[in-house]
Amino acid sequence: MQDQRVREVVIVGGGTAGWMTAAALSKVLSKDYSIRLVESEEIGTVGVGEATIPLIKVFNTALELDEQDFVRRTQGSFKLGIEFVNWHQLGDSYIHGFGKIGQDLGVVPFYHYWLKLHQQGLVGHFDDYSINTAAARANKFLPARSDRPNSPIADIGYAYHFDAGLYARFLRGYAEARGVVRSEGKVATVEQHPESGFVTAVTLHSGERIGGQLFIDCSGFRGLLIEQTLQTGYIDWTHWLPCNRAVAVPCESATPLTPYTRSTARKAGWQWRIPLQHRTGNGHVFSNDFISEDEATAILLANLDGKPLADPRVLSFVTGKRRKFWNKNVVAVGLASGFMEPLESTSIHLIQSAIARLTAFFPHAGFEQIDIDEFNAHSDFEFDKIRDFLILHYHATDRTDTPFWNYCRNMDIPDSLRHKMELFRSNGRIFRDGGELFAEPSWVQVMHGQGLRPRGYHALVDAQTDEAIRKHVDTVRAVIANCVQAMPTHADFIAKHFDAKALHAA
Ligand code: FAD
Repeated sequence: MQDQRVREVVIVGGGTAGWMTAAALSKVLSKDYSIRLVESEEIGTVGVGEATIPLIKVFNTALELDEQDFVRRTQGSFKLGIEFVNWHQLGDSYIHGFGKIGQDLGVVPFYHYWLKLHQQGLVGHFDDYSINTAAARANKFLPARSDRPNSPIADIGYAYHFDAGLYARFLRGYAEARGVVRSEGKVATVEQHPESGFVTAVTLHSGERIGGQLFIDCSGFRGLLIEQTLQTGYIDWTHWLPCNRAVAVPCESATPLTPYTRSTARKAGWQWRIPLQHRTGNGHVFSNDFISEDEATAILLANLDGKPLADPRVLSFVTGKRRKFWNKNVVAVGLASGFMEPLESTSIHLIQSAIARLTAFFPHAGFEQIDIDEFNAHSDFEFDKIRDFLILHYHATDRTDTPFWNYCRNMDIPDSLRHKMELFRSNGRIFRDGGELFAEPSWVQVMHGQGLRPRGYHALVDAQTDEAIRKHVDTVRAVIANCVQAMPTHADFIAKHFDAKALHAA
């Protein structure tokens, strides 16, 4: 019988996407599969992408990476959520924390009990009712403890900040040790089957020819195979997410070492701040329809924690997605598949989920179109839901101080998002759509943080007496405050268990 297996996989690109894909496939596929990766040092990588969401732990665990080794090798720190400053209005700040909010009572989410009291002016700040947010505000950190099932400590969700270049290097070592073969050089030509149009080989400027059956396009924004070769097409979302440039610069660290990413809204975009062990990553995402590159760079440089450690670098992008993520025998992963700004740190996650999906749909040599269509439908769903979540941050604002924010406040939004906002505005209800990435607590925190206030609350809250609700909500706050008090600072926790300097000392 003919061998139906796809045994030759070629990955074009060695950025975060390329090496995450290579590492994962080297773990999943046995030694009789050939995995080749091509990258060009001359072209380089995008060189940003340092904040993640908690699901990255699933990826690292699947690779059986040791957490301590990973954090030390990538100069990593821990992330309990994202602080959004000036997004709702100037001078305002809220945190989108990972993990749970409060403690549900029966079938009704905690938020609704808090909401009833809030509408009566009987409770304080929402921040005090999430262990993640309360710990972030105090610069404390502890990973969730499974031996404390009845404590908020069990509910802590966390992700990492890390140096993406070091992460790619770490994964390269992992993949090469498992048989992935790397070729250095620029792809000069791409060969296609004359009838099917399937990609059959890439040839480097050196003359090296690399043939394969399945090609993973991790070539970044250019989309060497998916776009330049197959001309798949791109759906542009700039009208909903108007930023199209970023200027990035690392700077010296400042204390305290905060366990969260900060996103500060500026006059025509926003600035990120990502604290690593050895430096702080910064960038200003903006729309050049509303502000010049020079002004955006000046704003960034005027708002750093410490001395810049490199020259600022400007990157251009078009927010959107490919018309197909998988076309013929090419699967686009990473920036080649589309891009949404790093407001909720979703890009590395999208790489991870594309890899998981590719594994689930790994093809036979025949490449069934129905499998490819299903892969694309799942990818579309994931991108569209994240897009809505990001648009929410821009659209639900009270800012009227600049043309950019006026545009965002008044712009048309997708019906799917409008529906979600209206549902929330009535009785504070949020439902996660199918397998969308962000769960109810994320939507609630951002809706609330952006100033949306429900008219009512869940009707079943009234099944409890006011006294019982009050007691429950007060207890949650007190227990969270006690737990946070007992937690170590983020800096102390890292120094004790995850200090990158210990790697070199060892
Ligand atoms: P790249 O890093 O661009 O790599 C492309 C690779 O293809 C390179 O190795 C290059 O050499 C190779 N290549 C290209 N053309 C050729 C050729 N002709 N021949 C040979 N090789 C070739 N994500 C997050 O999750 N969190 C964040 O905080 C975050 N922040 C971001 C901030 C900004 C401003 C931007 C733009 C992105 C950010 N991202 C973030 C996204 C993240 O950086 C990317 O998802 C991630 O780095 C993956 O990039 P990539 O590997 O797809 O592309």
